Amino acid sequence: MKAAVYRGVNQIRCEDVPIPETGPSEVLVNIQACGLCQSDIKKILYPICEPPRIFGHEMAGVVARVGEGVTNFAMGDRVAVMHHIPCLDCAHCRNECFSMCDTYREITTTAGFVPSGGGYSEYICVPEHIVNHGIIPLPDDISFETATFIEPVNCCLKAMEKIKIDSGEKVLVLGAGPMGLLFVKLLRSFGTTPVVSELMDSRRERAIEVGAELAVNPTHKNAIQDIIDATSGMGADAAILAVPNLKAAEFAFAAVRKGGRILFFAEFPNETTLPLSPNFLYRSEISLHGSYSSSFKLQALSADLIFSRSIEVTDLISDEFSLDQMPLAVEKATNPDERTMKILLRP
Ligand SMILES: [Zn+2]
Ligand SMILES: [Zn+2]
Repeated sequence: MKAAVYRGVNQIRCEDVPIPETGPSEVLVNIQACGLCQSDIKKILYPICEPPRIFGHEMAGVVARVGEGVTNFAMGDRVAVMHHIPCLDCAHCRNECFSMCDTYREITTTAGFVPSGGGYSEYICVPEHIVNHGIIPLPDDISFETATFIEPVNCCLKAMEKIKIDSGEKVLVLGAGPMGLLFVKLLRSFGTTPVVSELMDSRRERAIEVGAELAVNPTHKNAIQDIIDATSGMGADAAILAVPNLKAAEFAFAAVRKGGRILFFAEFPNETTLPLSPNFLYRSEISLHGSYSSSFKLQALSADLIFSRSIEVTDLISDEFSLDQMPLAVEKATNPDERTMKILLRP
């Protein structure tokens, strides 16, 4: 089969690799679509993981083989596959801190080499624990492309839950890339008013189209005041950093109200440190939060929001590439043009 294999920093190419073996409790899935996630881009462009690896985790496809012990799925089933499922039994899981669970981090789907998701390939092996808890059957009218958004939506919902976003609040989203726009859509659908800060003109326009009340250019000298004016003169109730940029973080510190919350959603390079006076947190009672990956508890809700079309996601897809075009896809995601949004791989 074909797979986009990571061979070292910024070295990823389409290769012929063996179709994964599957055991009696495992399932083989023929991947039809897989989202290109910024977390994958990081792993391709920075020396984070030992090569070789096959990444890709926002996956949907067709069941191609089931082990003799598998009773809940059959060949031909259309499914979305989660790449991480917590054990639901350890101390982290009991704290509902699922993404810190060892099982969550260690057991994952694979297309070969060290298991790393595997979605950028034609076939993945789904291990037993994920067969039991992490394969989501797709309704007939939901396309594979649409289903690739179940995991990203889950990540956004988890972040919103962490900072206890309430309807009626005004929430600043920093960065209007695909995840930023997904936040805008979700915030709108939950009855909150999103305002956006984004450098690219075209992305500010998209932000307004999908539901932002205001989209400012953070380099304009009135940008912070415009956000404060648009948020009852107090500043935003909460801010979500959907871009790994320190200037954006500083913008959030200035634009959030006293007593507000700031959530770090995007992953920064390891060497980044935050220039922040502790007294800013102390005197203004600002709280800082982080949210990494998805929550098992929100898996059903995420699927439901997409299946019921409560939020439209396919309008966020700007490009589709084959596995041979993986380097091009990475280049496009790293240097987006004015219409680049969500990029999908179509194995
Ligand atoms: Zn992702
Ligand atoms: Zn656990």
